[in-house]
Amino acid sequence: MKFNTKVIHAGVHPDVATGAIMTPIYQTSTYVQEEIGVHKGFEYSRTGNPTRQALENNLAAIEEGKFGACFGSGLAAIDAVIKMLSPGDEVISTNDLYGGSYRIFTTIFEKYGIKFHFVDMLNINNIKEKINSKTKLIWVETPTNPMMNIVDIKKVCELAKENKTMVAVDNTFATPYLQNPLSLGADIVMHSVTKYLGGHSDVVMGALVSNDSKIAEEIYRIQNSSGAVCGPMDSFLVLRGIKTLHLRMQRHCENGEKIANFLAQHPKVENVYWPGLTSHPNHDVAKSQMKDFGGMISFTLVGDSLEMAKQIVSKTELFTLAESLGGVESLIGHPSTMTHASIPREERIKSGVVDSLIRLSVGIEDVTDLIDDLTKALN
Ligand SMILES: *Cc1c(COP(=O)(O)O)cnc(C)c1O
Repeated sequence: MKFNTKVIHAGVHPDVATGAIMTPIYQTSTYVQEEIGVHKGFEYSRTGNPTRQALENNLAAIEEGKFGACFGSGLAAIDAVIKMLSPGDEVISTNDLYGGSYRIFTTIFEKYGIKFHFVDMLNINNIKEKINSKTKLIWVETPTNPMMNIVDIKKVCELAKENKTMVAVDNTFATPYLQNPLSLGADIVMHSVTKYLGGHSDVVMGALVSNDSKIAEEIYRIQNSSGAVCGPMDSFLVLRGIKTLHLRMQRHCENGEKIANFLAQHPKVENVYWPGLTSHPNHDVAKSQMKDFGGMISFTLVGDSLEMAKQIVSKTELFTLAESLGGVESLIGHPSTMTHASIPREERIKSGVVDSLIRLSVGIEDVTDLIDDLTKALN
């Protein structure tokens, strides 16, 4: 089955009891047993729920995986991955990481004796230097936030295989429409379903997908034991959202390209970070592992004026000032005072997050309206 068919059909079946074409919202905590141990495959909704299961199977299929598991948020999914490790184990992670991932690694799991190394993964030697017999996991995020760096997933996975280390990829920015890390050799794919998969800014959810039955067994054990599951209503909303993932992503990419080109030619704009531009330092890697380049764009202003950046993000009308990304509506954000405010200024500037950096989550509105909006704000 091709991707565009899978998003609509994979994992979902008409309801056996009624013929309902849409997967019902099984709003139930428990299931009647005919006699002890005799049931229809469901016992308790933390362990399993038919609406959630349909979504888990759909997600597995669109990520080229066999096993899907959904959680109450993206961070709950990350939490489950790190809980597969033991005290003394080490993790190598990208250094320009989603802030929440950095926070859970350093403020929650370091306390339990897991050690995290944060390296620039654009140079594979930085990973090699940190790998040792205690390394159990390499945590990759690509494209990264907000600099849109592209990590070579295949190269990282080859290095990990030589060292018998697991690789997990946070695929939130790319979505399975653009990139399938399992096919490139990764062991686990993680999603903040909150973003493009849900797609309508109305759900917080996370997911893990894998191909290895042993890894999946561990994930399901932790999902059930720690209990950070998502509810049936949210599962329904995401199943519905995913049915248009391919159409939305196609438009996000088309609008992204037009806006990246518009910004690249604007006299007040200094740098544009979008992996589809041939000027992007990792454009070739992006081209080899991604189907297209998405709708996430960052840019800086000539003169790097903080005041001007603040004015621009407050003057746009269609681009709404907000955190998050991946919804149908366009959002604008200012990383140095919003998502990255807790990072010391010098460190943040070293990684490219300068005072005037502005991040766009380009939505699926009419692109001429979006460009008009940016033109007015920039003037
Ligand atoms: C939002 C996000 C997360 C965290 O997901 P939540 O659903 O907010 O818990 C993790 N990684 C990336 C790249 C994200 O954008």
